[in-house]
Amino acid sequence: MGLLYLGTPLSWDEAKKYADHVRYHGITQFLHIWDRLKDRSGDELLWGDEIEYMVVSMNDIEKDARLSLRQTEILEKLSSIVSDITTDCHAAVPVPTFHPEYGRFMLESTPGSPYTGSISDLISVEANMRYRRTLARSHLKENEIPLTFTSYPRLGVPGPFTEPACDPSSAISSHSLFLPEEITNPHVRFPTLTANIRRRRGSKVAINLPVFFDENTPKPFIDPTVPWDRHIYPEDSEAKNGAALPDHIYLDAMGFGMGCCCLQLTFQACNVNEARRMYDGLIPIGPILLALTAASPIWRGYLADVDCRWNVIAGSVDDRTEEERGLKPLKESRYRIPKSRYDSVDLYIAKDWANRPEYNDTHVPYDEAIFERLQKHGIDDLLSKHVAHLFIRDPLVVFSETIDQDDSTSSDHFENIQSTNWQTLRFKPPPPNSPIGWRVEFRSMEVQPTDFENAAFAVFVVLLSRAILAFNLNFYIPISKVDTNMARAQVRAASTEQKFYFRKNVFRDGSSRPSSSASSSCSCSTTATEKEKKLRNCFPTAPEPDNNSHKGPVSEEYAEMSMNAIMNGDGASFPGLLGLVQEYLDTIEVDEESLAKIQSYLDLVRRRADGSLQTPATWIRNFVRSHPAYKKDSVVNAEINYDLMKAVDEIERGVLRVPELLPKDYTGTEQDKGTIGL
Ligand code: ADP
Ligand code: MG
Ligand code: MG
Ligand code: MG
Ligand code: MG
Ligand code: MG
Repeated sequence: MGLLYLGTPLSWDEAKKYADHVRYHGITQFLHIWDRLKDRSGDELLWGDEIEYMVVSMNDIEKDARLSLRQTEILEKLSSIVSDITTDCHAAVPVPTFHPEYGRFMLESTPGSPYTGSISDLISVEANMRYRRTLARSHLKENEIPLTFTSYPRLGVPGPFTEPACDPSSAISSHSLFLPEEITNPHVRFPTLTANIRRRRGSKVAINLPVFFDENTPKPFIDPTVPWDRHIYPEDSEAKNGAALPDHIYLDAMGFGMGCCCLQLTFQACNVNEARRMYDGLIPIGPILLALTAASPIWRGYLADVDCRWNVIAGSVDDRTEEERGLKPLKESRYRIPKSRYDSVDLYIAKDWANRPEYNDTHVPYDEAIFERLQKHGIDDLLSKHVAHLFIRDPLVVFSETIDQDDSTSSDHFENIQSTNWQTLRFKPPPPNSPIGWRVEFRSMEVQPTDFENAAFAVFVVLLSRAILAFNLNFYIPISKVDTNMARAQVRAASTEQKFYFRKNVFRDGSSRPSSSASSSCSCSTTATEKEKKLRNCFPTAPEPDNNSHKGPVSEEYAEMSMNAIMNGDGASFPGLLGLVQEYLDTIEVDEESLAKIQSYLDLVRRRADGSLQTPATWIRNFVRSHPAYKKDSVVNAEINYDLMKAVDEIERGVLRVPELLPKDYTGTEQDKGTIGL
């Protein structure tokens, strides 16, 4: 989430009049950036994570855990503390920053300044994350805890679930049957976004998650907690009239999705082409890591038959009209649009021979006039189509004060559309007038209960992104198969039960070993012989092969594989993603101590993939199902929820040991107390 501009937001009826204006100037702004920065090269690897927390207020007497709505106060406190530390030059770690998020119970933290490619930075990530958490915790009330928990189990249940308690009849933006207005960050951007999505769509959003049928779950399952006959907002009858499906958990507001917490990573590439290769390389990895980090099996007080947040968020901001969704013939709307503006990537974009046109095999509507404009400006078809596809969307929040901008210095209109296309990967052009280069953001992962896990997945993805570039790895499979993987990744216990499409041979020369371009020279690369050990920075693209070996049928290039095979290899020709990371590590010199730390992270990832450690989702589901107050009816009541929140906090602090979830030597943040010097 970018800086929050204070201004006067337009209602949907007004905002839509400016849609073409925002798109036109957004593209002009992009072209200014392109002209200035397309040839920029030599940027070093900088990277950073974003971690989201929900603040939970514990009532130990009543055994109740509720979402604390004190975001504004907490952030004020944290920002004054952070500026205190900034002036203290003895601060041990770069001073973190805290940001607001959609939910008024949420916080986001980032490392403050990005990490470099040095090994010492890589192995300091966990300490940085723990420091941020400890800092946040020390500025909450005694009974509040900052949990890195993906979806709050009792968001939207009848009766109080927030502190203070609020009534859903107040939901003037979402018109939700379940979520009060107060759940949303009060900054005008968020209620406006919420209301404008509903208005543009022509109804409330509607998400239906299959309920998890346990021994005593009534069949069919007709949710008794839905206020079927409420008459407050005009949309109240939607539930009864088909929006809420039997045997499903029905969710009707943006807050159910944007109230989820995730773990995101942003990488700066050496130049635009390398950013495009990294983007493509990570596209097939999105669903794999979603399944491995699955952490959200409970929704609105019920166990669901899914383990992940992704489709909930996709549905929660789905502003497509009925025409765009294909329910009515096109009249007012311009396109049939297969996906929500929040969904997995639609197009590969690398300028690379390995990126065969056959891989972009789904129907991807794009704005033809914008495409032509970009093309005429000299931008290649792939990138032109990527941008023209993002720009089929309307801007949802338009501020009357910023309609007219200087397109040579601003990127606001471009970002208005770009940053409300929430895909699994985001290709981030440099902001105008900044030292920042071309970046790629990896967005599919669910946040993990501990920073050991969050650091492990961050370190794994950083190393994998280096391996992709260093070995010129080829992970291409058709986008339609990546979409299939996204759907499979969210199914209950996907990581152990499902198979995923993956490319059989990831090396370009058809061999079963990486042919490292790591030794070839590149002006901006860093070598491991330098004093401080660094991850490699810039990588040459593989030259076009002079035979047609890469032109066989696409359908023979991939197969369905287990998570274990994809990650740990098949013991034969396929090395697995961890095998590739290991090979990459072998090409750089890492001292023993750092290597041991990196190995402990890779070990967690390996054990998740082979099933010897559970995903948080599996652990949470088992916790509920073995709780004495659970009636085997899928209901997660207040008592179970309280005990779950308490357990997750104790696990994080290292007070409660759970060998099925974490390695035996995990040490929690309880021991960090007193080390932050505040
Ligand atoms: P978003 O727009 O996705 O919310 P944030 O600003 O919250 O982005 O976080 C982006 C992350 O990128 C942070 O971890 C930050 O440290 C990191 N970052 C900042 N500058 C760079 C850069 N030049 N290259 C790579 N990462 C960067
Ligand atoms: Mg965020
Ligand atoms: Mg952010
Ligand atoms: Mg964000
Ligand atoms: Mg931002
Ligand atoms: Mg982000």
